[in-house]
Amino acid sequence: MNLEEKELRELFELVDRIGNKRYNRLTDEDFINYRKFDYWRYVNGDHECGTTQESKDWVREHSDWHCPICGDRFSKKGGRTIDHKLPRSQYPWLSLEFKNLWVICKPCNLQKGEMHWYEYEQYMLTHHPSSYEGIRIMRPTQLLQSLKN
Ligand SMILES: [Zn+2]
Repeated sequence: MNLEEKELRELFELVDRIGNKRYNRLTDEDFINYRKFDYWRYVNGDHECGTTQESKDWVREHSDWHCPICGDRFSKKGGRTIDHKLPRSQYPWLSLEFKNLWVICKPCNLQKGEMHWYEYEQYMLTHHPSSYEGIRIMRPTQLLQSLKN
């Protein structure tokens, strides 16, 4: 394990601990934001659902024609989805934090599932090394730093 990996793992462990503490003190507002995302979310696969103009606009501004993970055209992969880099199940208060969102295709979103970002990077490095670099540059470093402070 090199120094960068070690620092990254430590950062994630720290953020995880902070996350767990925060999780035990969820507020009403956190739940409201969590639910708001369900309404706000944009999925344009086979049919559009849970859609708002605002989320459509956001997706257009934050994606091109290709999924940043697999590199395939969204149209070939069943469309665009908004994913939470740090999963909503573990970080519900980050449901509507834009630094935590990115646009990926449906199969990649399914594969990522509820994996924590660090776990996901490890998974990609092991199983899809050719896609790893694309993931690494999308790491939510700013968000992690803000959680740490
Ligand atoms: Zn993809």
